[in-house]
Amino acid sequence: MARSDVIVIGAGVVGLSVAIAAQMRGLTVTVIDREGPAAGASAGNAGAFAFTDILPLASPGILKKAPKWLLDPLGPLSIRPAYALNIAPWMFRFWRACSASRVAHSTSAQTALMDLSKAELEPFLSATDTLSMLRKEGNLQVYESDAEFRASLPGWEARELHGIEFRHMDAAEMAAIQPGIAPRFIRATFTPGWYSIADPKLYTLALAEHFRARGGVVEIAEVTALRPVSDGVEIVLAGDVARSAGKVVLSAGAFSHRVARSLGENIPLETERGYNTTLPSDALDLRTQITFGGHGFVVTRLTSGIRVGGAVELGGLDLPPNYARSDAMLKKAKTFLPGLKTAGGTQWMGFRPSMPDSLPAIGRAKVTPNVVYAFGHGHLGLTQAAGTARLVADLLQDQSPAIDLASFSPSRFG
Ligand SMILES: Cc1cc2nc3c(=O)[nH]c(=O)nc-3n(C[C@H](O)[C@H](O)[C@H](O)COP(=O)(O)OP(=O)(O)OC[C@H]3O[C@@H](n4cnc5c(N)ncnc54)[C@H](O)[C@@H]3O)c2cc1C
Repeated sequence: MARSDVIVIGAGVVGLSVAIAAQMRGLTVTVIDREGPAAGASAGNAGAFAFTDILPLASPGILKKAPKWLLDPLGPLSIRPAYALNIAPWMFRFWRACSASRVAHSTSAQTALMDLSKAELEPFLSATDTLSMLRKEGNLQVYESDAEFRASLPGWEARELHGIEFRHMDAAEMAAIQPGIAPRFIRATFTPGWYSIADPKLYTLALAEHFRARGGVVEIAEVTALRPVSDGVEIVLAGDVARSAGKVVLSAGAFSHRVARSLGENIPLETERGYNTTLPSDALDLRTQITFGGHGFVVTRLTSGIRVGGAVELGGLDLPPNYARSDAMLKKAKTFLPGLKTAGGTQWMGFRPSMPDSLPAIGRAKVTPNVVYAFGHGHLGLTQAAGTARLVADLLQDQSPAIDLASFSPSRFG
């Protein structure tokens, strides 16, 4: 096999976007994935380009909600008892990232990455012949009480400062945008600048196809270690086979820290496991994405059907899924959207790759400039893939990146 300029590890939406961006700069690129394209979180997400989500998850608001949420074992946030001790160090860092000054810092970094990602998205979709998959149907965030609505206001004020467009509305206006929401929801906020993709799995597969059609190679193999060598990087595969390249991009989603460990780095990447059920397309006449923020899930219309999904389960990479969580979410969705037909669904669980401060890790490895990290996008990997691809391509070509990457440094936790 001819040696590529760049090997990208991981054929999720982040890895493939990076591979295409590098290819567009004239570099030869191979992508290595242990299962093939769209095997991870990129297949089953909610399909939202959530550019208005500039506030980090690690924030005082989540600390207030968490105790109530944790009381319900099938609620929006849960910790698998068998994993509680393992995740304690990550949770400590998460808690530290919730201070006012850290939140202000993360918001400003997240905003810069969101702006870049939004600016890069449509040119990227055009260049990859996927623009027809873009939907601009907005998002409707709904509230069950005035208290819940009032609690959301500081977040909206912060977005307003950043010029993000939204409209608060009463139940009648909400029904004009999306009929059929249960009367317990008395208010809503509509965000027109929230885009989505017709289907995240089909989009990721289309990126793989585009990449291959332009000479890119996708190899199916598991990467076990990286070793810096004089002219680049050696990539060790399961079975002790090796590949080499001038540069390597590590974008193996929630598994990336395991590979980074072979370079002596201990990166606090965890997974926030998420669940969903995808129902047949006629399950609901859905006109926009609906966010049930108080319950931690969204309902989205995709090519593959109506997807009811979300929740955060802290349970690591190895415990089996608990699909009772998908069942519980679907049951709630039926109460909130009485017209929803809940039969015939397919359940799924995926691993969000999450750093404690809700910012991804984008930057060079400590031990060698020839390895670039691009992982840890948490709830926003689809949203930020095109922006991340631009930044990584800049780093691969030793150009100064389009935004300051200090806040995204993979080694920011020491
Ligand atoms: C329920 C849910 C809803 C979500 N909704 C949204 C949303 O609406 N909008 C949004 O922006 N984001 C959303 N996300 C988050 C988003 O899905 C992720 O941030 C994103 O998919 C991460 O992409 P990735 O390419 O980094 O990782 P992945 O898609 O997980 O890809 C990683 C790839 O690496 C491969 N791999 C792993 N280890 C190795 C190895 N050692 N060797 C070779 N290959 C390896 C895997 O096989 C996999 O294909 C959601 C996530 C979940 C779980």
